[in-house]
Amino acid sequence: MAKVKKAKANTISNEHGASMDKIVSLCKRRGFVYPSSEIYGGLSATWDYGPLGVELKKNIQDAWWKEMVRRHDNIVGLDAAIMMHPRTWEASGHVENFSDPLVDCKKCKTRFRADHLEEIQAEKGTEKGVCPECGGELTEPRQFNLMFTTHMGPVADSGSVIYLRPETAQGIFVNFKNVVDTSRVQIPFGIAQVGKAFRNEITTKNFIFRTCEFEQMEMQYFVKPGTEDVSFEEWKAKRMTWYQERLGIKSERLRFAEHGPQELAHYAKVAFDIEYEYPFGWQELEGIHSRTDYDLSRHGEFAGKEINYLDPEDNNRYVPYVIETSSGLTRSVLVALMDAYHEETIGEDKNGNPDIRTVLHLHPDIAPVKVAVLPLVKKDGLAELAQGLEKDLREDFATFYDQGGAIGRRYRRMDEIGTPFCITVDYESKEEKTVTLRFRDSMEQIRLPMNEVADRIRKEIRDYKRS
Ligand code: ATP
Repeated sequence: MAKVKKAKANTISNEHGASMDKIVSLCKRRGFVYPSSEIYGGLSATWDYGPLGVELKKNIQDAWWKEMVRRHDNIVGLDAAIMMHPRTWEASGHVENFSDPLVDCKKCKTRFRADHLEEIQAEKGTEKGVCPECGGELTEPRQFNLMFTTHMGPVADSGSVIYLRPETAQGIFVNFKNVVDTSRVQIPFGIAQVGKAFRNEITTKNFIFRTCEFEQMEMQYFVKPGTEDVSFEEWKAKRMTWYQERLGIKSERLRFAEHGPQELAHYAKVAFDIEYEYPFGWQELEGIHSRTDYDLSRHGEFAGKEINYLDPEDNNRYVPYVIETSSGLTRSVLVALMDAYHEETIGEDKNGNPDIRTVLHLHPDIAPVKVAVLPLVKKDGLAELAQGLEKDLREDFATFYDQGGAIGRRYRRMDEIGTPFCITVDYESKEEKTVTLRFRDSMEQIRLPMNEVADRIRKEIRDYKRS
């Protein structure tokens, strides 16, 4: 197994590598994310995931599910309905409290979240207390409920109002008893769920960071009262490690931020966010909340059926306390893309200008395509040989076959979408049954027998560490 080529990449990009414009453009160009209903002019608050985006999103979801449900024998899954009995949202406090303060500009009619105003004014360098867009007079803040309403049944009256769920968590709480009665879980245990959530956000901006329709990956961990602080610390540490090690996000771009007394939600005893350093500043990626027995007690009260747990260890009944980990799936897609994006100079072109490659250093577990199979040329049976290999590899990996254009150009196309491995089939492959395996991050190439390539890729994925 001889090394045939090694190239070292230099960084030429800015500290972050990715600007929002570059990410939006790459996503559109390569089919990760498109503006929703674009042919009608788009709907700025929602986005559509294209062929590569849907794979990336699904891979992140699968990585989360594997971490939470498969690696913990005391966490089980659930898929509750988006439309729930409207009393759910009265009990949870959303009807009363799930609102943001809204201010309008009396002159240009732009709307702002009052709690974001100071930040926008500072960003734009405008005076406090006036509209940051036009300097006009602002209205007094008024509360605006973020839940979308719709009607169930043929008559749209007040009795038929239902809500699109603004979080997945409540589907878990209302099923607590069902899960306890029908599975063998014992406290402490968790219920995990991934699904869509909807919020009528006052301002949606920064691409898929804040949208009206998004996806969450939530887990509610039920514990014995008095043990919640220890459990909270454990989950805080586990969740941070997951982003760093399983999603391969750079540690220096992640941090914890504790909610101050003003920010704490009505149900929370203590709350920390995991924040990421986006090009527009540090903002939330996941919330970890100690929710006490608020939710189970309230649902018990509103449904008129006490929800509690009989502890088989001491025969005591109690209402469990809850630790929640609430991650944005669609926001994680943005973080994965931003963190992986890099522009690197890898030499000079024929005019002496820097030759720059754009590469996504995605963790191989979440890369939309794991292996590209590329015949050096189409003729002399190389295409057929490469297609046969690609077909074999398809059973184990997400593969892509590309026979068009210069090999260097094909490598670059794969770098740009984050494909970690490229296999090149050439004339030697025909005679000696060997191929070239190229690694995305180092651009190193090695030669190995064709029948060893699948095992080698599997090992590389398992041992992958972001440099
Ligand atoms: P914010 O204060 O920024 O509106 P939040 O604190 O209300 O957000 P949570 O209710 O804790 O957010 O939601 C948990 C996670 O769900 C967030 O960390 C985020 O990743 C994701 N999320 C929440 N709202 C949105 C949204 N409008 N668009 C995309 N993801 C969202």
